[in-house]
Amino acid sequence: MIEFQGISKTYRIGKIEVKAVREVSLKIEAGEFVAIMGASGSGKSTLMHLMGLLDRPDQGRYLLAGQPISGLSDDELAALRNRLIGFVFQQFHLLPHMTALENAELPLIYAGQREMVGKARRELEAVGLSDRMTHRPNELSGGQQQRVAIARSLVNDPLVIMADEPTGNLDTRSKEEILAILQRLNREGKTIVMVTHEPEMAAHAGRIIQMRDGRIIADDRRGEGVPSSAAEGAGPARPPKRPYDFLKVVDSTHQAIAAMITHKMRSFLSILGILIGVAAVIAMLALGSGAQASIEQQLSSLGSNLLRVRPGRSFVQGVALESGTVTRLTPRDIDAIHRLPDVRRVSPSVYGRVQVVYRSSNANTTLEGVNIEYAPMRASEPVAGRFFTQEELRTRAKVAVLGQTVIQELFEGADPIGQTVKINLINFRVIGVLPAKGASFGGFRDQDDIILVPVTTAMKRLLGKEYLDAVYVEGASADVLDALQEEILDLLVRRHRLINQPNADDAFDIRNMADIKATLESTTRTMSVLLGVIAAISLLVGGIGIMNIMLVSVAERTREIGLRKAIGATQGDILMQFLTEATLLSLIGGLIGIGVGVGISESLAFFAGWAVKISLFSVVLATGFSLAVGIGFGLWPARQASFLNPIDALRYE
Ligand code: ADP
Ligand code: MG
Repeated sequence: MIEFQGISKTYRIGKIEVKAVREVSLKIEAGEFVAIMGASGSGKSTLMHLMGLLDRPDQGRYLLAGQPISGLSDDELAALRNRLIGFVFQQFHLLPHMTALENAELPLIYAGQREMVGKARRELEAVGLSDRMTHRPNELSGGQQQRVAIARSLVNDPLVIMADEPTGNLDTRSKEEILAILQRLNREGKTIVMVTHEPEMAAHAGRIIQMRDGRIIADDRRGEGVPSSAAEGAGPARPPKRPYDFLKVVDSTHQAIAAMITHKMRSFLSILGILIGVAAVIAMLALGSGAQASIEQQLSSLGSNLLRVRPGRSFVQGVALESGTVTRLTPRDIDAIHRLPDVRRVSPSVYGRVQVVYRSSNANTTLEGVNIEYAPMRASEPVAGRFFTQEELRTRAKVAVLGQTVIQELFEGADPIGQTVKINLINFRVIGVLPAKGASFGGFRDQDDIILVPVTTAMKRLLGKEYLDAVYVEGASADVLDALQEEILDLLVRRHRLINQPNADDAFDIRNMADIKATLESTTRTMSVLLGVIAAISLLVGGIGIMNIMLVSVAERTREIGLRKAIGATQGDILMQFLTEATLLSLIGGLIGIGVGVGISESLAFFAGWAVKISLFSVVLATGFSLAVGIGFGLWPARQASFLNPIDALRYE
């Protein structure tokens, strides 16, 4: 069954070499009950790990049921351990978060034989634990835990049971129970290899091998426990390849959920890390694109190809005092500008603050006097009612077109058209409602908080102004704007007799609205980038959090990984389990994060009135990134652990 030919194993710690097993040759026949004895450090455990395929020898040949094992891969060894060998360890090595039954079933899962769960139940009954199936290891006595471990070692019907000091941690009564079970198994045909340093335990074995300093110094065979040739011949055929079928995914999901529930705090922290990252990204990007959208809307409502002319502020009083008035714009300047060939539309503008009253409501708002070309120029065609007419302009009619904010403040849902409001105590008829131009953002004023009236009415009846505050000029196309700017300046300088005056060019302030747009746009872009950077940082911090927790989680569970490998998990199985776990954690965190992010964005919009725009892109980006971070950082340490020798992983402290 087991044949060692000159097997050696040397451990190296720095420069020191420990020859744990030196050129051991031995044969164990099927059906034997072998006790390996010796002082502590004599190499008993190492010898057993080599026999149990938990470790590879440095030298020598190992034939298991007549077949050499040296050429087999790690995964093939795992499959052989799973099918042929059952392990019982001094420390029991049960998985703490699983019930007795789940622990006993574990090798079946790695054998792809879940349908045989009844076998685990039967084995537990056979070791006298029929009433402890759903208990967890910490609810069982040491002897009971070891009996669960024996049931686990038997569940795949192995040829050999290898027990390393199985009674080392137990009281006398439990010792006897365990020993009785091992003897019964041996009578039923199982080969048993048991490491022990207690002579009274060894006395029950059919053969006692004594070790000292890595060598066998005695090998006594006794009468009883004669090898039964019956079990011979059931050699280790190459294990069948186990496909990653659907059940396997179900199993690893089940294992992952069980592990997550066991480590509630850690799972919660992982989820929290991802959650914060995802929520931050979604909220930040929603704010950024909301601001951008709101500014774009305001920009488009400015109108296009627009120039704004205002009296120059920087005009120095080098001119004689009485000509201080020469830079003031008059309605006749409008007509002159209108005659320029590249001009499409012109509107004057005077503005000021006014008090409006409708019944018991009143509001303080901006009033602007304009002409009828203003509406098409500034995208201000009324959405209800109408704009004023040329006739009303001529007659200084007391009619007003109201912005959305004014309407909200005064009318509370009532239809404003045809109503009379008092503007600075003068009665005006409301004839139209302006389109919404977008909520104000940051320092920009609310463009909907406005009343438009004929410019003539504004100047003569309301504001008492003789001059215009500004003139809006719409060019024929975007290409002519630069030239037009010059032409208007020339025209005004001539009309106001400023030729040859110093600083004549500063007498009027002519701005291309496209320049203002460009400035605004670059400001928003800067802000979006800034928000994006903050979001990226929070994702990164979240990612580092996940990595830490995953690293701790894997380190903490190295022994679990070792145990799983010892009973037959392949590297793929281990990776699969951790991958499922990391994916589940990231997914849960990501989904809650989306909810929280959307919630934050919506409440910012609702309570603070900020413009937000949640984009699918940000949701996909944030979730994708967190998944990648969670899985990447979770998988990497798991991969390291899955490469460990099972025995090194089991010994990990
Ligand atoms: P026993 O089980 O008989 O007490 P072991 O087989 O555990 O002895 O150990 C035999 C020798 O090998 C000891 O000197 C021990 O210190 C050394 N040894 C065992 N495992 C390792 C290891 N992983 N690294 C280094 N030395 C080891
Ligand atoms: Mg030992």
